Amino acid sequence: MTREMKVGVIGLGHMGSGIAASLMRAGFDVTVYNRTREKAAPLLAKGAHLAATVRDACGGDAVITMLADDNAVNEVVSGNDGILASLPKDAIHMSSSTISVALSADLTERHARAGRRFIAAPVFGRPDVAAAGKLFVVAAGSSDTIAAVQPLLNAIGQKTFVISETPSAANLVKLSGNFLIATVIESLGEAMALIDKGGIDRRMYVDLLTSTLFGAPVYKTYGSLVAERRFEPAGFPALLARKDIRLALAAGEDLCVPLPIASLLRDRFLALAARGGDHLDWSAISELAALDSASTRPQKQDGSIAA
Ligand code: NAP
Repeated sequence: MTREMKVGVIGLGHMGSGIAASLMRAGFDVTVYNRTREKAAPLLAKGAHLAATVRDACGGDAVITMLADDNAVNEVVSGNDGILASLPKDAIHMSSSTISVALSADLTERHARAGRRFIAAPVFGRPDVAAAGKLFVVAAGSSDTIAAVQPLLNAIGQKTFVISETPSAANLVKLSGNFLIATVIESLGEAMALIDKGGIDRRMYVDLLTSTLFGAPVYKTYGSLVAERRFEPAGFPALLARKDIRLALAAGEDLCVPLPIASLLRDRFLALAARGGDHLDWSAISELAALDSASTRPQKQDGSIAA
């Protein structure tokens, strides 16, 4: 397949909008569908075609789904007007949402049974990275199918890691990665509560960390969000992060792999949800350590976490 590929993008949230925009910048013919139609407006203004239904987004060479969770993906895949019933014979469904290993395996089987091509291509990178076409893509599926969509992967990401012929392997890697990022956020929150209560400046502390032993992007990005308590607008809402920790734990259960730190993180995200923080960036779990230590910034009167 070439530059003239026609591609549908289903799901125009924070990530899907950026992905669609990157594809258009690279010259692809892009058709977009979103449950809430208004979100398509900025892309239509740039020349995307509007699909009124999921079926209408499936007429090209490939369709990319970038939806919130398992339920959303299942919904758009299934039914008379779903992806499986609508995709032309040689077209490809590229699933980029962060979904469960189990659903990815199920989708692989259902696409194979229907004679349709399927790959998993979840991504690392926040919405600004998606908008810039600089995501890291973890791809898995048959090598000829991945090769066929490589031009699309090149448009949305700075690098593609092809890790397996089994699509669900990519989802497992993605979930393990988000688990690791959440551990960094939690430990940054704890370290920051400690130095903060000891009277040390948070920004200076992050600067020290990231210019010495902790120069990795994850410490830079989340170190500054945590130090500055910049939890709104959320790049990645805690609600979706809670879903990812739950899915990592489910994968651990299936493979009989205990993940004690993931269990702790699950409770951290639940505590944040109980305080009304699901809409905040996932880095807001760092505030729980500050609350535990009765540190400098108390929670709001209503018990929610201050953004
Ligand atoms: P988002 O902004 O909340 O967008 C979610 C999208 O899913 C919207 O288009 C929403 O449609 C759609 N949706 C939700 N439920 C649906 C349903 N039942 N039927 C049809 N559409 C439905 O989320 P996002 O940040 O773009 O994330 C999308 C996926 O990428 C998630 O799996 C997330 O875990 C993953 N991810 C996110 C990031 C990040 O930093 N944000 C990074 C990497 C991966 P409406 O507009 O109608 O609500």
